[in-house]
Amino acid sequence: MAIPMFPAEKRILTIPPRSRERIRTIFGRYSGFDSVPRTPEADAWIARTEEQALRFLSVEAICLLEPVTETSPAGVRTASGIFFPSPRMGEVLDGACGMAVMALRLRGEEALSGRGDYADQMLYDLWGNAVLESAASDLRVSLKREFRDRGFFVTPTWSPGQNGIALANQIPLFRLLHPEEIGITLGPDHLMEPLKSVTQFFGCGWEVMTGLAAPCDFCDSRNSCVSAYFESLYDKEEPPECSYFK
Ligand code: SF4
Repeated sequence: MAIPMFPAEKRILTIPPRSRERIRTIFGRYSGFDSVPRTPEADAWIARTEEQALRFLSVEAICLLEPVTETSPAGVRTASGIFFPSPRMGEVLDGACGMAVMALRLRGEEALSGRGDYADQMLYDLWGNAVLESAASDLRVSLKREFRDRGFFVTPTWSPGQNGIALANQIPLFRLLHPEEIGITLGPDHLMEPLKSVTQFFGCGWEVMTGLAAPCDFCDSRNSCVSAYFESLYDKEEPPECSYFK
């Protein structure tokens, strides 16, 4: 069934690092600095690199809403004929009439590459991961809000390579979304270039869907992973002025 209120539409947008508290939370988790005593010198170092990183880094994203025509134990087929041969996708998108597909990449790293010493560069790398992950959260929160405002139900967010969805599903995702339009390419190993890129998708439907499982539900590391249930951890803080889909 097509989605009458959301015709297939593609958008390219820039997401600045606005959700500072969320970025700090993700940085703290990845760096481990949240769990150790910190000296004033360390605090000053972190603050200095944060100021530089958030001054130069941003995220570019491409997103698409695509009607879904078939979900089955074999996988998911979309209105443009793209087939994702993934039983897990068929399971977690069961009942969906559409899916939102997104690809995001970090921008601005080159402006930081000559700044500071090796230790600074390590922190810039962590800030980059945090900015990218926070932007992915901003985007899915924004899109899900748009869908819910129009009466849709939405599924948790997934990415190819996560817990039962083979990384090879990057191939149909790229055929559908064409992240090359913002400079993201797919290698023969299904890894993206630049490395600081992410893809993600969620399903939407007119009724509550049966497959409301999240990636972490299937993961043996969920009791020890610092990012377990990242969507519920990071998506709590709604981004300001976040109607990216308007
Ligand atoms: S528990 Fe951690 S590693 Fe496992 S799916 Fe969740 S975020 Fe990924």
